[in-house]
Amino acid sequence: MATITFSNVTKTYGQNHVVDNLDLDLPDGSMTVLVGPSGCGKSTSLRMLAGLEAVSSGDIFIGERNVTHVDTRDRDIAMVFQNYALYPHLDVLDNVAFPLRAKKMKKADAHRRATEVAQSVGLGELLKRRPKDLSGGQQQRVAIARAIVREPAIFLFDEPLSNLDAKLRIETRTELLRIQRRLGITSFYVTHDQEEAMTLSDRMVVTRNGGVAQTGTPNEVYSRPVDTFVATFVGSPKMNLIAGSYSESLLHTEIGIDFAVDPPRRGDLLLGVRPDDLLLSPDPASHAVVSLVELLGPRAIVTVTAGATELTAVAEVSRLGGIESGAPVALRVRPRSAHYFDRESGNRIE
Ligand code: ADP
Ligand code: MG
Repeated sequence: MATITFSNVTKTYGQNHVVDNLDLDLPDGSMTVLVGPSGCGKSTSLRMLAGLEAVSSGDIFIGERNVTHVDTRDRDIAMVFQNYALYPHLDVLDNVAFPLRAKKMKKADAHRRATEVAQSVGLGELLKRRPKDLSGGQQQRVAIARAIVREPAIFLFDEPLSNLDAKLRIETRTELLRIQRRLGITSFYVTHDQEEAMTLSDRMVVTRNGGVAQTGTPNEVYSRPVDTFVATFVGSPKMNLIAGSYSESLLHTEIGIDFAVDPPRRGDLLLGVRPDDLLLSPDPASHAVVSLVELLGPRAIVTVTAGATELTAVAEVSRLGGIESGAPVALRVRPRSAHYFDRESGNRIE
């Protein structure tokens, strides 16, 4: 096992800083998830750690060892990608055993070890199947088993669940988390999917334009986003942001609604309200009107239109009484749940 350190790592393509002064510590045995919009340099960061991409400046350490210029083969890393890259002509057993055979392990030994690992990820019944006769989720488990069998110091995952349908993605995600926890191998996982990042990570690193926007546990990032970028990127449906000005115990907002909240300073600010914290009640006198109700099992996403602004609330279906399309509603913010940001910089105000 090993810690991983990125120290001031930059990657440029021509004038383009794809990764910009990246400083990152991945604790031993942790699952760190790098999450950010498409094109923000996640794969490039991971590929530099793997040695598949040269570093323009800065250093990468695995444990105490500076691996910046070390060959991929000598970094003791196993990777799982979005496309599973299985060998189509080999069955499951031989796919999993492949890295061992490549290291000249005897066939019987390699097969015994590969069988154990395949069984541990629920592939025990499928050892003789070819990849084309497996579902996407099963194929991904073969790719994971093939990574595990090498007993690497580090696991790297690049959007490994993106090719799976929604149900399988959630199942495989749970499976992956169980395997990582059991093996305790330091893991670096990149994805554009904030929900995947929230559920999988011990530590979440939100990136923007090649730099780090915020690092923390999923709960820290969710409950105290450092700016409006992180606030709206993490959490679904996304946080409502409403511009307003605070005076005399009320936040007078641009949507013509006054909120009784308690921000840390007076004057202009942005009020941030998670959809779960935007409370609705029927009110014939209100100019805010429900424009859409989308049922999600026991809860519903309610879109409210106030002037030209759309706001999103999430409510218990059992408490919707009177809250239906076309109904005027009063809006409140759940006590002590509001976030505040500077209107100019977008930075969090404490
Ligand atoms: P992500 O994985 O976050 O979606 P990538 O790391 O793949 O992003 O890419 C980051 C940026 O670097 C993108 O804008 C991409 O176009 C650019 N890029 C990646 N590889 C190259 C390359 N070989 N040459 C030039 N630009 C590249
Ligand atoms: Mg990528």
